[in-house]
Amino acid sequence: MAKELYNLGEQPPLGIVPQKMHAWLIRPERFGVPTEAFQQEVVDVPPIADDEVLVYVMAAGINYNNVWAGLGIPVNVIGARNKAGEKEEFHIGGSDASGIVYKVGKDVTGLKVGDEVVIHCGRYSRDCEWVKNGGDPMYSPTYRIWGYETNWGSFAQFTKVQAQQCMPKPKHMNWEEAAAYTLVAATAWRMLHGWGANAVKKDDVVLIWGGAGGLGSMAIQIVKAAGAIPIAIVSGEDKFDYCMKLGAKGCINRNEFDHWGMLPHWKDNVGYAKWLKGVRAFGAKIWEVLGEKRAPNIVFEHPGETTIPTSIFVCDTGGMVVVCAGTTGYNATVDLRYLWMRQKRLQGSHFANTEQSKQMNELAVRGLLDPCLSRAFPYTDIPHVHQLMYENKHPHGNMAVLVGAKEFGLGASSKAPLAILHPILPKGDVHTTPHPYPMSAPLPGIAEAEAIKIADDGTQVKDLMHRGIIACAPGDTVGQVAKIMVDKEIHAVVVMDGGKAVGVVSQTDMVLARQGRTSEEARAMKAGDIMTPGCATCDANILLSEAVSLMTGRRMHRLIVTENDQPTGVISMTDVVRKIIGE
Ligand code: NAP
Repeated sequence: MAKELYNLGEQPPLGIVPQKMHAWLIRPERFGVPTEAFQQEVVDVPPIADDEVLVYVMAAGINYNNVWAGLGIPVNVIGARNKAGEKEEFHIGGSDASGIVYKVGKDVTGLKVGDEVVIHCGRYSRDCEWVKNGGDPMYSPTYRIWGYETNWGSFAQFTKVQAQQCMPKPKHMNWEEAAAYTLVAATAWRMLHGWGANAVKKDDVVLIWGGAGGLGSMAIQIVKAAGAIPIAIVSGEDKFDYCMKLGAKGCINRNEFDHWGMLPHWKDNVGYAKWLKGVRAFGAKIWEVLGEKRAPNIVFEHPGETTIPTSIFVCDTGGMVVVCAGTTGYNATVDLRYLWMRQKRLQGSHFANTEQSKQMNELAVRGLLDPCLSRAFPYTDIPHVHQLMYENKHPHGNMAVLVGAKEFGLGASSKAPLAILHPILPKGDVHTTPHPYPMSAPLPGIAEAEAIKIADDGTQVKDLMHRGIIACAPGDTVGQVAKIMVDKEIHAVVVMDGGKAVGVVSQTDMVLARQGRTSEEARAMKAGDIMTPGCATCDANILLSEAVSLMTGRRMHRLIVTENDQPTGVISMTDVVRKIIGE
């Protein structure tokens, strides 16, 4: 007869499911840093649905999602589930695992008690019409990330998963290695193989950001296995050897370049020329490490804001920049000329569907994918590992914790099909990027965005605006406009034509007009030629905070204020700063 509860490491007889299990739980009343949010408790083993299986967890993979779950931001995952009708007031995280099937639902085929499996984290309802009609489950409204958006993840003795999530455990890997690669490798697989005509093919050149990171290390191996040519970008030469052993043809140290960040404005000749010089030097470096003058057919992206302009620029004509994250920021800027003229594709990608996960796993089973496990921890360290991640002090590469496995290094039942190098990351490598956004924090859909609470003191534009419009005509010379600016000590002049405001000449426009021209040439130009056309306006009765959003959204420093649709004044960022300092 089954005991009610088994100790950790004391494996119940195969197929015998106890009533209770040990688990690390997050509860809303202790949302906070990982060492406070996670606590060990004993809970009932969950029942399974007809299309589900219960897996005895041997080891669990770690990723950043459950730091967010523990903090309770940006989404309270427990509250969201309670709202949807699930009753448990706790969360068991963990979105990667290796283990043994202990129970199968009555509709499950192809899996039996005793099967050794690894688990991918994509769940969806088999009753979803979209899926039933053959649609990609990744686009199903029922799609959820197991162990983050759903409960009963792998930080417990038993986990409940859909049968379609289970894949054969590579026999040559130990439990902790097998628990470490699925999430990152399946994500990289879809990015590289999931996008039709742009899917990786033999001899393609693929540029991979963060080659020594979780995704990048998988991408290098997947690209190599496809017969294509991976080029890895890393932040130091000490990581070159690691990437080369994984299969990179060459590596680039991103710290040799400094053109990162948002694109300079296209009118900013000097800034743009400097950026162009930087990005061209970077492109030449790609040719150098590749040994031939070819542009990458695919750029494998996740840093986002700081690197997207470069990725788009260096990508080959008809090629694809495929992105699954924006670790350095979300406002990616693109010079559209390169995108449309060279017909490049900027493709978003998120995790992977069942088929893609299984294709990826086939590579692991065949011994062609090193799990790149950098460190494994004991079960008791689950909060500590998440705390390390929270503090950005965790080791690079993929991490795992033991759950049911008694010791490190157990579980391999055969030799690796191929001799594999097991490269090791350099010691002392530190994380430099901010915390990644949760893998699938439900972004608000149309009309369901939750209102954000804003403190606002009610100041309106009319309380701070400068009344009166200082204007010029489109035909006035830049010299004349400059005189108005200097005499009146203002930063911008409105261009009026036939009683209508048609544009603004700002100090920035003047400076840009002077770039590459003599002073005389610039002074002789017309206001209509250098103005920023169109007038960003706001009504005098709107809140100051709304005006600030308008300005920041358009990257402007002032707005023309209208009353009864007639321009009557100006509000500028300088006014806002004065108000903030004044208080
Ligand atoms: P990781 O192991 O921390 O690796 C990220 C790599 O990015 C680092 O190794 C770093 O390498 C590089 N990097 C850091 N700052 C950079 C910068 N400013 N410019 C260029 N490269 C920079 O993380 P990961 O597991 O690979 O995940 C990467 C991102 O993808 C995270 O945001 C993660 O949340 C997301 N993700 C998304 C999905 C999805 O399905 N959507 C799935 C998995 C992961 P160097 O310092 O050596 O350059």
